[in-house]
Amino acid sequence: MFSIGNSTKRVLSMKKSEQLLELRRRDMVEKLKAYGIADRRVLDAFLEVPRHLFFDSEALELAYNDAAYPIGFGQTISQPYTVAYMTTLLVERCSSGKVLEIGTGSGYQAAILDALGYSVFTVERIFELYEKAEKLFSRLGLNITCRFGDGTLGWIDEAPFDGIIITAASPGEPQTLLDQLAHNGCMVIPIGDSCSQQMTVICRLDNDFRKEVFQQFSFVPLVGREGWNDTGF
Ligand code: SAH
Repeated sequence: MFSIGNSTKRVLSMKKSEQLLELRRRDMVEKLKAYGIADRRVLDAFLEVPRHLFFDSEALELAYNDAAYPIGFGQTISQPYTVAYMTTLLVERCSSGKVLEIGTGSGYQAAILDALGYSVFTVERIFELYEKAEKLFSRLGLNITCRFGDGTLGWIDEAPFDGIIITAASPGEPQTLLDQLAHNGCMVIPIGDSCSQQMTVICRLDNDFRKEVFQQFSFVPLVGREGWNDTGF
């Protein structure tokens, strides 16, 4: 009788779980559509980037829930809907070029931006998260440049940026980051207090800035010289 060995069984079961994760990824994208995310480029990027690779192995099955999840040090990987919402605001106003992300965290938002074809720069203030994300980007062969430090100071050597996306709650509009926006560049930033923040887009038109405000979200604090102080909110 034909029987398969243990290593073949392992490969088959790995394939099965990969297929299952892919099905869950498709479901996640269907849910994003149902919640109103309509931009095809954004939806395709969500199909392309395996969110589970940004989770530790014991939490893989949670990767496609529409929920934020702890990544250590009191931080979270943002909810897929939040990432999709912010990415849509950016893509609709500036669909190519150089983008600076503040708050690398797990690296998922940066990978989504990379899949959209941007040239991605990202800054993280917690060394362990920075190191983990950098290793992951290189393991996945992603061309994302990351740096450890206070992102509220921007990245002067790489400025100006066509897009800046801040994935943590800011008490206001960080002037240093606005100064690093290219002409016609746009910044997507949640601004507010400890309870909730209003998603805000600030676009630079020559020396004028145009502001639009959108729905409320709840983020971990942006901690830094132009953010909150060390104790958080
Ligand atoms: N974009 C992330 C979500 C990260 S949560 C993802 O896709 O997983 C917000 C992150 O911002 C945290 O990792 C936090 O450490 C980081 N952060 C907060 N203030 C910062 C600052 N001033 N500079 C850089 N990173 C900051």
